Amino acid sequence: MAAILDDRTASAVGYRVAEPVVSFEQAKELAAEYGTPLMCVSRSVVARNYEILQAGLPGVELFYAAKSNPDLTILRTLRKLGGSVDICSVGELKAALQAGFTPEQMLHTHPCKTVDNLMTCYEAGVRLFIYDNATELKKIHRLTPDVGLLLRVAMSSASSMINLSAKFGCAPSEAVELLRQARELGMNVRGISFHVGSQTLEPGDYDRALAKVRQIFDDAACEGIDLEILDIGGGMPAPYREAIISLEMYCDIVRQSLEMHFGDLPVRVIAEPGRVISADTQTLITSIIGKSVRPNGATQYIIDDGLYGSFSGKVYDHTDFNLMAENHLDRPCFPCVVAGPTCDSTDVVSRDQELPNLEIGELILVPSMGSYTNASGSTFNGLDLVKAIGVE
Ligand SMILES: *Cc1c(COP(=O)(O)O)cnc(C)c1O
Repeated sequence: MAAILDDRTASAVGYRVAEPVVSFEQAKELAAEYGTPLMCVSRSVVARNYEILQAGLPGVELFYAAKSNPDLTILRTLRKLGGSVDICSVGELKAALQAGFTPEQMLHTHPCKTVDNLMTCYEAGVRLFIYDNATELKKIHRLTPDVGLLLRVAMSSASSMINLSAKFGCAPSEAVELLRQARELGMNVRGISFHVGSQTLEPGDYDRALAKVRQIFDDAACEGIDLEILDIGGGMPAPYREAIISLEMYCDIVRQSLEMHFGDLPVRVIAEPGRVISADTQTLITSIIGKSVRPNGATQYIIDDGLYGSFSGKVYDHTDFNLMAENHLDRPCFPCVVAGPTCDSTDVVSRDQELPNLEIGELILVPSMGSYTNASGSTFNGLDLVKAIGVE
């Protein structure tokens, strides 16, 4: 849609674009103090995203998906704003506790839990868990029979970059049977959860999913199972190299669908937003550490972070990130390859972005680096994970 829109046009017509959370001036100071690569995490952007979601989806409880980025600056900021948290593992439980969340503010969303994961979170006080099959239901019943349950149902992800129903979620046609089995075991089954996908560009996908889920609520009610929680999952998009619809407009459309399909039911609605909150809170500062002309004539820059580090999202999350040089638009730009610091030839960050003629030591800023980036990075080749610091 809108790679060609510049920032001003974009915000004027209700688009959301990736913007760095620090200026080049600040980046130079921070790089001098902390070294690079350096990840800057903006508290004010966390707060802005949370507040837009809250205002745009009134009454919807926001359980931030820690999976997208368990950084303590993000978790603490959300906790102070009154948010809740979606955890999947003992590590995420510990991060949430460290940030000050209480177990009542946590929802455990992993549909297939190890005994250790389930028991540790249970013993910490978490009481709301997800299941999507009869085996998991029996496991939870055997170990922690007094928890509340949400049944995860698979939904199609028409406009999503990532399908969150490929691995988890029961078929909608199995839902009532799985609810009945929980009821027969005496379990407190409280609602339905679903995901439209991740990086779901079209808010209309929620409308189709909500219509199907409403049918499940109605079918369950016919069986005498009254559900009280509707969990609309994660999936809202973040801007990367392309502008996307503004968050206000996106929420407005989802809110209308919620009203249309569930306005007449007294349900508690919750959501598990991940990247829509975390992605544009982080900007990576990375340095040019090498420059050469390859035998094929291409200019190649080596930077000090790559696919095995913060750019891991390019591999696992299928996202592509904007590389910005200082005064980028005012300098002549040339085709080039930008590669990461490991010895692996696949460690290439960009082949299709043009950059000015850069010198060793120059900084590159990479906005919208806050979701599925350093969270999924590794220390391959003996390289440290990026340092992260909180900024206003
Ligand atoms: C990944 C995930 C999310 C967050 O997805 P986003 O697309 O980042 O919003 C929420 N809930 C569950 C269970 C997930 O697996």
